[in-house]
Amino acid sequence: MIKKILIANRGEIAVRVIKTARKLGIKSVAIYSEADANSLAVQMADEAYYIGLAPSNLSYLNIAKIIEVIKESGADAVHPGYGFLSENAKFAEELKKIGVKFIGPDIHAIKSMGDKIVSKKIAQEAGVNTVPGYMGTIADADEAIKIADSIGYPVMVKAAAGGGGRGMRIVKKQQEVAEAFASAKQEAQNNFGDDRIFIEKFIEQPRHIEIQVLADQHGNVVCLGERECSIQRYNQKVIEEAPSAFLTEEVRQEMYRQSKNLAMKVGYYSAGTIEYIADQERNFYFLEMNTRLQVEHPVTELITGYDLVEQMINIAAGEKLPMQQSDVKLNGWAMESRIYAEDPARGFLPSSGRIVRYQEPESDKHIRVDSGIYDGGEVSMFYDSMVAKLCSYGKNRKAAIKYMQRALGEYVIQGISTNISFLQNIFHSKRFASAELSTNYISEEYPDGYKDQEIASSDYAPIIYIAVIIRWLEAQRLGEVAGKNPVRPKEINTRWAVCIKNAHYVVEIDSVEEDRFELFLQGKKVIIDQLGWHVGLPLFKANIDGSPISVRFKKLANSNAYEFNYQGGFVKALVVSPRVAELMQYMPELEDDLDHSALLAPISGKVVAVKVKPGEKIKAGSELVILEAMKMENSLVAELDTEIKAVNVKVGDNVQSDQILIEYES
Ligand code: ADP
Ligand code: ADP
Ligand code: MG
Repeated sequence: MIKKILIANRGEIAVRVIKTARKLGIKSVAIYSEADANSLAVQMADEAYYIGLAPSNLSYLNIAKIIEVIKESGADAVHPGYGFLSENAKFAEELKKIGVKFIGPDIHAIKSMGDKIVSKKIAQEAGVNTVPGYMGTIADADEAIKIADSIGYPVMVKAAAGGGGRGMRIVKKQQEVAEAFASAKQEAQNNFGDDRIFIEKFIEQPRHIEIQVLADQHGNVVCLGERECSIQRYNQKVIEEAPSAFLTEEVRQEMYRQSKNLAMKVGYYSAGTIEYIADQERNFYFLEMNTRLQVEHPVTELITGYDLVEQMINIAAGEKLPMQQSDVKLNGWAMESRIYAEDPARGFLPSSGRIVRYQEPESDKHIRVDSGIYDGGEVSMFYDSMVAKLCSYGKNRKAAIKYMQRALGEYVIQGISTNISFLQNIFHSKRFASAELSTNYISEEYPDGYKDQEIASSDYAPIIYIAVIIRWLEAQRLGEVAGKNPVRPKEINTRWAVCIKNAHYVVEIDSVEEDRFELFLQGKKVIIDQLGWHVGLPLFKANIDGSPISVRFKKLANSNAYEFNYQGGFVKALVVSPRVAELMQYMPELEDDLDHSALLAPISGKVVAVKVKPGEKIKAGSELVILEAMKMENSLVAELDTEIKAVNVKVGDNVQSDQILIEYES
């Protein structure tokens, strides 16, 4: 029935929807802003239309312009993805007026579930457990204090219109209420143009568990299992999985029952997600309902076998659900890593720029990559920092983790910072393996903030072998490039020393045949074969004594030193002859590349607060400026104790990356 779908979105989710449209033989129409003219979605869609400048309000949120393009393209349906206009009732209304189908629920459901205060009331009426708290708009700080006192600390101050983790503050004691109230209100006003605030109890050691529902226009509702999304930073999800290791079948059935009741109460149809927060006793409480396709929907697809976008399209076309609750089976285990363009070691500061190298892990029945980026593409500062999703699937949780570990190890993205190493750290941790999760996971595991981790010396062995092989192959290649007679393998050193920190390890190359090396390290022989590497590639793949290994590395400028990145850890290694190694005591220390004279903007953005004045003495770690970029408020802090000489920016200024914001006294 539906013949042409316009996708009112960008990035990975636009690509995701196009894939299903293609599968169903439906034509796809992409829309794009100036920043996305060369995007993957534009390349893949059957048609693409320019809709405006990069800032979202001039393009992806410009309803009038999008409606114009819908008419021009002749699309008969619109998929809104997530974010942007996906939960915008006015957009759905405009579509209705021109007789174009909105691939989502009806306007009433969007409206009532889009407001966290209204939806909480409706949930309560539907017999759904809700977080204890005050279900009205709070007028001012004094009222907020009274309400917080009566609920009992800790409490959560939340924006009624909030989303994406914004407009939300945890408050541990009375003295913090006024400040949290004001800042949440401000953030909500800036982000959503709606500053209504409410307060509820903060559930301690919480686990985020949500139910995927699917409902048709004929009153049928099914639940497609749960997803656990407890690994979060700034109240936004980083890792999700399905099913949840925490649920008992009894609790799952009760969550199903309440979720169905809520869906029925609002006459819901399409795909939707009901989010709950669960405490350590498995009491669960309604948080919100997202009336759209959820970012992490792939994990549900992997364990249930249903294509949720296909289901949404069929429901919008008026079809009945093809399954009943008893047909829904949860098979195996799936994990999702959100790949964010950000620097976890700098407080998850977003990162934008050109992708100079992009290599995805191969997709197969265990690995799925949903990505909106490509080699040479650009990550724009105007949009969300999530650039791709990496999912793994296995017969149980342990297997899914193992596949995820491998795929993360094979993912190469250069040119921008990403959270890949950070994700590897989590997937290699014992605590994650034991499924002892809570939304405090990241702050508990990295109490002083995440720092790039060093590879433990007990894990040096594979790095040492790989360093020698890379060095050997580079030496051989150099011989070829020089135009002389190719250097024959025998003429290249067979004894090498790998210097790591202040030790060195001598390796003897015993034999080399095509893609097979036999090496000795400290008298122990190892065989490295099935080499999947040649000079110039950033990812070294091989089998070491039969086990596959993938290690990313960078060659350090003008030297035979490399920085390896393995299982989330980093280490630098220098490969020289054993004689040179003996003469050298240490690895040359890397220079500190911090600039101690000024604070530079790490990213382009808008100044939303300046926290210091000239002449002020500050301590390392104190907040200097808050910069808004990629939809996040980023706190820039002092790297060392110093005194402020000059403040070169004010609130409201738009600054460029590397612009001097603050100068320090020398
Ligand atoms: P999900 O709940 O689907 O896992 P998020 O809460 O992280 O995902 O939000 C999904 C995307 O939608 C993000 O890009 C987020 O910034 C955006 N988003 C969510 N809610 C809103 C909203 N109310 N207004 C604007 N953008 C939103
Ligand atoms: P958003 O619309 O931004 O997704 P949610 O209400 O879904 O907002 O909350 C996002 C996250 O914030 C939750 O996943 C959870 O980690 C945390 N959170 C929200 N409310 C509470 C609460 N009352 N107690 C504990 N954590 C909460
Ligand atoms: Mg949410």
